[in-house]
Amino acid sequence: MTNKELITVTSPLLPDLEELHDMLQQIWDKRWITNNGSFHKQLEKELAEYLGVPFVSLFTNGTLPLLTALQALKITGEVITTPYSFVATTHCIWWNGCKPVFVDIDPNTGNIDPKKIEAAITPRTTAIMPVHVYGTPCDTKEIQNIADKYGLKVIYDAAHAFGVKKNGTSILNEGDMSTLSFHATKVYNTLEGGAMIIHDEETKKRIDFLKNFGFAGETEVVAPGINSKMDEVRAAYGLLNLRQVDKAIEARHQVALQYREALQETEGIRFMNDLSGVKHNYSYFPIFIDEEKYGSTRDELYFKMKEQGVNGRRYFYPLISEFSIYQGEDSASPDNLPNAHKMANSVICLPMHHALSQDDINRVLETIIIK
Ligand SMILES: *Cc1c(COP(=O)(O)O)cnc(C)c1O
Repeated sequence: MTNKELITVTSPLLPDLEELHDMLQQIWDKRWITNNGSFHKQLEKELAEYLGVPFVSLFTNGTLPLLTALQALKITGEVITTPYSFVATTHCIWWNGCKPVFVDIDPNTGNIDPKKIEAAITPRTTAIMPVHVYGTPCDTKEIQNIADKYGLKVIYDAAHAFGVKKNGTSILNEGDMSTLSFHATKVYNTLEGGAMIIHDEETKKRIDFLKNFGFAGETEVVAPGINSKMDEVRAAYGLLNLRQVDKAIEARHQVALQYREALQETEGIRFMNDLSGVKHNYSYFPIFIDEEKYGSTRDELYFKMKEQGVNGRRYFYPLISEFSIYQGEDSASPDNLPNAHKMANSVICLPMHHALSQDDINRVLETIIIK
């Protein structure tokens, strides 16, 4: 380990403390700290406007809206999903008593390959749960075509896709529902937090009941709900962060441009370019190592970076299908998931956040380029 300062893979977007103090004072004055308070209402409204979606329902994290989406849509049986994601995606299928069915990914985007979905559909399939990995939009049109043909629901885990648009429209409007995570490691955070994106007012009402134990009134419980209400402190924090998130995304964009410029000549390193018509959020900067051409393995580079005080992350390694709890599924067989295995074994996500200095960026690049 060198004595240089550690460069972390991510760094949370933090609101100004004085402004936060003012907001906290207002909460203290009102003595209303949770259960759909005024900052909660305001954040749902401002987020819907910012994201360009009809309705937002806030949650305490990004896992519970996924869990609740499957409940709300009464998903049973088998759910088609991707192994190339954070483990919460599959856990939510399991927690709903459903069987996850893994389908391989498109090697260009890392997202579920729609061409391989139909072969995985059985009479028990009721839903598809894709992930917009790294914030890159899935082939939503093709996925919807398949869903319509077989009468399946589509729930997008959009944890990485805050603010991502395609042809001027939010990709969060796709499918039956989408969910966001506002965890500290994400582009936009509310400390911990998350949201469900909903297309109509009636469903919004139902989801709001479900995240509050199913209460539809003082004495009426309409469904076996859960508790996942966001409190006023985090809603206030979220309102402040929303005011600076565009600037943070632009700072990330500049980092991505520098990484790409510097790495395009490096043999054996592949990275992702912007897609035309897509407004990206630069939530991650994955590189993929071809060990033959690059001259060392992914793990050699990963640990060398670590030694030099540069933290990458091997998102997503191991694949979800490799964890012992899911390994036994027929669809978890590596033969069924060749592209996912290849990607998981070659990826490193480079440090990517709004607070990287020029010096940090240079140090990251030096660990990769100067072998
Ligand atoms: C972060 C993340 C989640 C979970 O979000 P939390 O807010 O941490 O509960 C779910 N899915 C994906 C793809 C994620 O990256």
